[in-house]
Amino acid sequence: MAARRSGESAPRSISGPQAPLVWKFGGTSVGDQERVRAVAERMVAAQRSGRGVVAVLSAMGKSTDALVAQAAAISSNPPLRELDALLSVGEQISCALTAMAIASLGGHAVSLTGGQAGIRTDATHGSARMLGIDPSRIRAALDEGAIVLVTGFQGESANGDTTTLGRGGSDASAVAVAAALGVRECEIFTDVAAVHTADPRVVPDARRLTTIRPQEMLELAEAGAGVLQPRSVELAMAHGVDIHLRSSFGTEEGTWIRGGAGDFEVAGTASVAGVAHRRDEHLYTVDAPLTAVAAALAGRGLALGTVVPGASTAVTVPGADPAAVAAALDAAGITVRDREDLGSVGVVSLGLARAPEVLASTLDVLAAAGITPRLVTTTPSRVGVLVAADRVDDAVRALHAALVGGESAGAGRTAA
Ligand code: ADP
Ligand code: ASP
Ligand code: MG
Repeated sequence: MAARRSGESAPRSISGPQAPLVWKFGGTSVGDQERVRAVAERMVAAQRSGRGVVAVLSAMGKSTDALVAQAAAISSNPPLRELDALLSVGEQISCALTAMAIASLGGHAVSLTGGQAGIRTDATHGSARMLGIDPSRIRAALDEGAIVLVTGFQGESANGDTTTLGRGGSDASAVAVAAALGVRECEIFTDVAAVHTADPRVVPDARRLTTIRPQEMLELAEAGAGVLQPRSVELAMAHGVDIHLRSSFGTEEGTWIRGGAGDFEVAGTASVAGVAHRRDEHLYTVDAPLTAVAAALAGRGLALGTVVPGASTAVTVPGADPAAVAAALDAAGITVRDREDLGSVGVVSLGLARAPEVLASTLDVLAAAGITPRLVTTTPSRVGVLVAADRVDDAVRALHAALVGGESAGAGRTAA
């Protein structure tokens, strides 16, 4: 994403106390009235200490899921423009209620939709890409002394339609707003204290990380670690924004996602950053050439993962809702002949090509746990294994215990 379009003024790069704080609060963090008030109090306190505050908010709790369910109850294949019109409402509710909570504390806030905040996107409804942000309205509101509340997860296409950025997209909105304002840090407040070496809901003794390299975080996110949306990490890398992921329930430091300064040996250390997983990964088999399948999915902004070409084509579409995949294929006249409901586990380690023992250990550990891989993929930074959906948690725990647990954090990463 370009943080601005040609003709827009270059962002003043600002840091230190003059820079506004750019914060993001996720669904749990604004999950009910009490949480909204707590978030409002945090913002008012920061402003009273002399800082400008721009906060990107997600929809309250699981309200986006509720909107998705409402749409599904009306239509199995709703027009994507109208789906975006519906899904974008959740974030507007959060921002408006938080602005009211701030007013009731004697503060002054203004809520802005994605379009009002100058977030321009393409027209790919449901997974729109940000093209640029014109931050002039955010800046003007800051200059007037307002706390600026920006709806996450949404923007506006060239014709003025509301678009959404894909599930979890508020993380990307926040980093993009920081980049557009020329602010070097973006704090993402969530329901977990830090990035851990695995999802702490699955691995209770996963280690908290105080820092992690952006490349490692991106790989974990791509492998399903839902704590950050992958696009937000890409944007942070592209625009030199450091992300601080921390709990919204306290004041302690969380994890800094920033460059591995001082690394001599980034790769080939066989150091495993973490293990991530997805419970819902599907292997679709279709009787159509791979080129047609790829084009049909790309047209809806859906990216292929694993591909097994042949007389029939088998593919995964990581993280995509099966209904969206079926609709995209159906629209191109392609029928899904078979769908295997699987899960995936990803072992992240930069420089795998120079540390082949990581793949060997991954396969050993799974075999010892009696878990048969359905498919194995490797990249220079990640081993990915498709396994039976009901063995995902076992696989994550076994791999974490063998490859991460007990080790030191590794170069460029520090454990708490
Ligand atoms: P938010 O609503 O604030 O965006 P999310 O639910 O999207 O929050 O992300 C936070 C959740 O991510 C945590 O509750 C945790 O279960 C999950 N998670 C998955 N992998 C990790 C990980 N490696 N470290 C920390 N949390 C993780
Ligand atoms: N509310 C949206 C979702 O649930 C966006 C977000 O929370 O980041 O996916
Ligand atoms: Mg999230």
